[in-house]
Amino acid sequence: GGQTAVTDERFDALRTAFHGPLITPDDPAYDETRALHNGMFDRHPGLIARCSGAADVIDAVNLARERDLLVAVRGGGHGIAGHSSCDDAMMIDLSAMRGVWVNPAERLVRVQGGATWGDVDREAQVFGLAVPGGVVSTTGVAGLTLGGGLGWLHRKYGLTCDNLVAAEIVTADGGLLRATETEHEDLFWALRGGGGNFGVVTAFEFQAHPVGPIVMYGAAMYAAADAEEILPAWRDWTGGLPDEVTSRAMFWSMPASPLLPPEVHNRDVFIVGAVYAGPPEDATTILRKVGRFGTPLADLSGPRPFRDVQRLLDWMFPKGELLSYWKSVTVRDLGDDVLRMVLRRGLDRPHPTTLVHVPQMGGAVRRLGPQDTAFGDRSAAYIVSIDGNWTDPADTQADMQWVRDAFDEVNALPSACGTYLNFSSEMDVDAAGRQTAFGENLDRLGRVKQAYDPENRFRLNNNIRPAGY
Ligand code: FAD
Repeated sequence: GGQTAVTDERFDALRTAFHGPLITPDDPAYDETRALHNGMFDRHPGLIARCSGAADVIDAVNLARERDLLVAVRGGGHGIAGHSSCDDAMMIDLSAMRGVWVNPAERLVRVQGGATWGDVDREAQVFGLAVPGGVVSTTGVAGLTLGGGLGWLHRKYGLTCDNLVAAEIVTADGGLLRATETEHEDLFWALRGGGGNFGVVTAFEFQAHPVGPIVMYGAAMYAAADAEEILPAWRDWTGGLPDEVTSRAMFWSMPASPLLPPEVHNRDVFIVGAVYAGPPEDATTILRKVGRFGTPLADLSGPRPFRDVQRLLDWMFPKGELLSYWKSVTVRDLGDDVLRMVLRRGLDRPHPTTLVHVPQMGGAVRRLGPQDTAFGDRSAAYIVSIDGNWTDPADTQADMQWVRDAFDEVNALPSACGTYLNFSSEMDVDAAGRQTAFGENLDRLGRVKQAYDPENRFRLNNNIRPAGY
């Protein structure tokens, strides 16, 4: 760490060369630029380098190295752990780098490092294509991809990182590298799950797939109390689904909104959601079940534009308004012991905005082995994610404790097999997290870290220590 001396000659030289704005605390744009999605964090960087392209990123990384400044890297700003800003040091802000280019002939999509999933879907859907991304369109491509990435398409087309074919990255020495299956293969391996440890990714290239423009969407909301009966039935149903279907179950509450029928306003609900990644007419029968686990309060299922599906939940996650602390457990199966915990916590959420979220895994996610990418173990059939969200800072300690307790309970069960770092506010990847986060891949990750960031310049992340450090 160290504070930023921002007024000397070296800094003047940077300002002359830099193409994007360099934002200091006295700048009117400072507060808006440093703000993160998670309202829990109010961090004040000494300098925000709002990069316009790879050349700016190179200059910023070089300055950070010369000054021994800690670096925070901001892609979409959704990181739940709040690592994409920091006090004093330097924030490398990529939010001005949101370009997306589609090559329809090869179904390749090139995305700049600060783009969101909304940016990608907007351009890719022009060609009837999609890259498997997240379920909220304002989430950044960068953090989500580097940590794995799951959404509505992963059981058909794999994790987001499985669809990465190239990444361009500025490493700690200021070099710009291209990592693929055949160039800097070790780095390419590490970027697919290893997070922001290896440098600043300026561009991603993805394999896209034909999806939409209309997809069959299933979403039924039941009274939360009905979940005791529905949960086991949902588990049994999901166990027999084709890979085209990705389903998730959620305990949640939604406020009054014209987007929703009045029957569910401010109710504690149990939601069964699903998307069919294939021709919508093939899905009518299979997704009908979503609304027939009991008597739903509302059934919003039906064909919809894929882009709309991708934005349906956005309004529930307004920027900066929720204080969030999430933890997640991957589980090999949903035994009755796991379901009991899910049910108990789902019915006992401390705030309407707090969510118990159970996405289904499996399918194409399992086509790769644990050592094929840094992501590690892929045996999980589901994830149990405890997503604490609240609005009053006075609740913070109690809510964090509630999430930790729920996590500990599920994590102690025999079918717990790991953690999903993108849904985790804190996780020590080297010590207690060693077995759960990267497993057997941690040593290799440490060697890649040593090769590309030996001084651990990029350590505001789920940090992997350089080997031999
Ligand atoms: P940022 O906060 O900008 O970045 C997070 C971290 O990633 C940074 O600290 C840095 O270490 C690294 N990083 C960011 N950009 C770069 C870059 N260009 N180069 C190198 N490192 C970089 N995850 C899913 O898998 N599926 C979902 O459906 C999903 N939904 C979500 C919905 C919401 C409302 C939220 C808040 C999160 C969701 N997530 C989901 C979790 C998400 O994957 C992580 O929060 C992820 O870190 C977000 O990436 P970002 O670029 O927006 O975040």
